[in-house]
Amino acid sequence: MPKACSAINCPNRDTRENRARGLSFHSFPKAHELRKRWMLAVKRIEPGSRRLWIPGAGACLCSQHFTQDEFELYGGQKRLKAGVIPSVFSFKVLWKGEGLVVIRASHLREECMCM
Ligand SMILES: [Zn+2]
Repeated sequence: MPKACSAINCPNRDTRENRARGLSFHSFPKAHELRKRWMLAVKRIEPGSRRLWIPGAGACLCSQHFTQDEFELYGGQKRLKAGVIPSVFSFKVLWKGEGLVVIRASHLREECMCM
């Protein structure tokens, strides 16, 4: 079973074909604070408890949820720069957990509307 991207509505799996297309897959960070920010960025809710989804050991995101300048080349491999938070998602959500955040479909970036 190849790893699959944990983002909502993202069908990408860690297959040789996808790697050949330039996709890369990145595990959730281990550092608590950063991990939490990734969880908030992903905006997945557990259907049962309606709480924020907790990423499992194999949880990862594909490179489509990051902007090009958030990667760096290291030993010939693309990797994420330190402290980067995923910001490119294809869904529209109103999230009121930490202020009102609106996803603008036009450019798929999120924008905080809080003052
Ligand atoms: Zn993805």
